[in-house]
Amino acid sequence: MAPITGLAISLVLLVLQTATLRYIGLLWPVKVPIFEYPSEFHQNTVNGLIERINETRITEQLRHLAGAFPHREFNSDTGESFAVEIESLLRDTGVPVDIYHHGWRQPSLIAKIPGTQQSKVVVGCHLDSLNLVPFLSSPGVDDDLSGIVTLLEAIRILQQNPWEFRQSLEFHFYAAEEPGLRGSLDILANYSDIVAFLQQDMTGFSAGAPPHFGVVEDYASESLINYVKRLIETYCTIPYRSTRCGQICSDHSAALINGFPAVYVLESELAASNPYIHTERDTLEHIDVGHVAQHVRLVLAFAVETALMETVEARGEQSVRFRWTDIVILSATSDTLRFVMACIILSGAVANLVLVLRSGGHRNLFKLHEN
Ligand SMILES: [Zn+2]
Repeated sequence: MAPITGLAISLVLLVLQTATLRYIGLLWPVKVPIFEYPSEFHQNTVNGLIERINETRITEQLRHLAGAFPHREFNSDTGESFAVEIESLLRDTGVPVDIYHHGWRQPSLIAKIPGTQQSKVVVGCHLDSLNLVPFLSSPGVDDDLSGIVTLLEAIRILQQNPWEFRQSLEFHFYAAEEPGLRGSLDILANYSDIVAFLQQDMTGFSAGAPPHFGVVEDYASESLINYVKRLIETYCTIPYRSTRCGQICSDHSAALINGFPAVYVLESELAASNPYIHTERDTLEHIDVGHVAQHVRLVLAFAVETALMETVEARGEQSVRFRWTDIVILSATSDTLRFVMACIILSGAVANLVLVLRSGGHRNLFKLHEN
């Protein structure tokens, strides 16, 4: 076969294979509905709940879980037994829990406080941990044991009251966030009716700057960004700073990819966040429990105020744009077989291109063009 024919065939195959990639549609913006979130708050109710936040209990929970589960990789024994432990702690609070099994060891968990309507308010965190250097331990105390205990403390307090929520409230503990949002993408692809999603991933480090929240403003719903800022001003005692991820940095992006309004609030702006994550030094000594308690305030406020919302009519749509690098990351991690095929075809195309250039075939092409 002439090199030029080989090149043409491999280019056609490359286009056909790329078109089958699961996340290729993200080349176009995702339409996410814009909801009107509450502007008047139930301050007596929420402040009554905030008074019950118990920092000693948060500290003990962190110590126990960090000591018993020094690493929690998504496809490991300890990753799986850690999910079983969190399920048991959730059931101790009296909240119903669904277990979601994936194609790896660690399941995801979904705790539910039902409302009178179908629509859902979701707060997320992730169960797995990661060390970027293989075979070294991955304690992941800030990333994301801190988010897990934030949700556990909020659920415990909410469960002490009989609620009549309108929106159903769900707390999602996702498996396999670290290898590319695999747990949340699995679950949220089959979801409907999420009207607000708040991610809590890294809530415990405050040494990088005077304590503040980081509100992620790229990869987020504008209406939710403004709403959580008002909640922070009303219910928390530290300020916020706007920050940017620059990529699909946590499970809120899986919500956006599936067309649900989402926002991510972490321990600080990215530049001041915990420098020890994804290493064996992401340990208890760097955690400020008072900072975790600020996040519990935010989660309680977000959960109660949003779940008490009367109507959830969309008043428009926002276009959320993803980068081509996001598509490469998502395809490599969550659509691996098709991605590997595309890479093989691409290398074939490059090899054919080299052959064409060496054989001078491109000059014939230019001559044809000139004639
Ligand atoms: Zn994380």
